[in-house]
Amino acid sequence: MTADEPMMSSPPPLPPRPGAHLLVGAVDGHVHACPHRNARSLDVFDAVEQAAAAGMRAIGLMDNFCSSVGYAALARRRLGHLGVEVFGGVILEPQVGGLSVEVVEAALALGYADDDKPHPADGARFVSLPTHHTRAVARTEGRDADYIDACLAIPEILDIIAAHDVVLNTGHLSAAETLRLIEHARARGVSRILCPANYFTADDVRAATALGAYAELSFFFVTHATQIGLTHVDAEKHDVQALTIPQVTGLIAATPVDRLVLSGDCGVSVLPPPTEGLREFLWTLKLAGVPESTLRRAVSENPIGLFRIAARG
Ligand SMILES: [Zn+2]
Repeated sequence: MTADEPMMSSPPPLPPRPGAHLLVGAVDGHVHACPHRNARSLDVFDAVEQAAAAGMRAIGLMDNFCSSVGYAALARRRLGHLGVEVFGGVILEPQVGGLSVEVVEAALALGYADDDKPHPADGARFVSLPTHHTRAVARTEGRDADYIDACLAIPEILDIIAAHDVVLNTGHLSAAETLRLIEHARARGVSRILCPANYFTADDVRAATALGAYAELSFFFVTHATQIGLTHVDAEKHDVQALTIPQVTGLIAATPVDRLVLSGDCGVSVLPPPTEGLREFLWTLKLAGVPESTLRRAVSENPIGLFRIAARG
């Protein structure tokens, strides 16, 4: 090399990012890093490594195409030394196997057993009712009558969820359906219930949390990803109704602090990777006036208790 040649060196590290401290010990139970029909910003291993780099405690993999339990078990086996608890679950979409007892039982049992004894972290940590194959979503997507008719009708899967004490995720039902489901699930002994509450009114959130459910609000719904057609489950592209930050802070104010769960819902390639998405969400909410103690509760204590995340060993 002569003196005129430019020195090749690695670029300087990124400057500190505001709100990064809020990720330390945090849980994002809503990460879409599994293989998908549309592009992802990262894969499952990347998601675990980035969560570890951010000091996060756990991530939950959500997927509309497969049970994510196997992906989570594989990631724990390969990257367990990083100290991030990766957990999976099952969304009962048709592509996954539908509203089927067999699908739920397989998801609860799957993992890398040692001497036929399941690893305590294996198995589904949540069971979600359909997120896209519901009448509520099919109507907003303008699907035809036959498609809508073939969508969700409630089965007895709740009993298995109760017996295994895993999280019932109420999926993307309408608020009215969600409230009836929570009542029904509680009566059947389900104690861990999480409802995606992005499109709820403040009264819906109050009603759901009064019945003992946790309300989940996600970064995705305040982002530009809502404004481009995405293939969520099939070849059709659909926009998602966007929320404003004041709408989200209004819903947070209506939610008891011990019932609030905040998540990223990132992984799609048009959004920042999940740790970045969650940080942006938390920092934005802090600037919008949500107390840091509330944010911490919603990304640490609450999801740690809900998903039974083990104490860091
Ligand atoms: Zn999602």
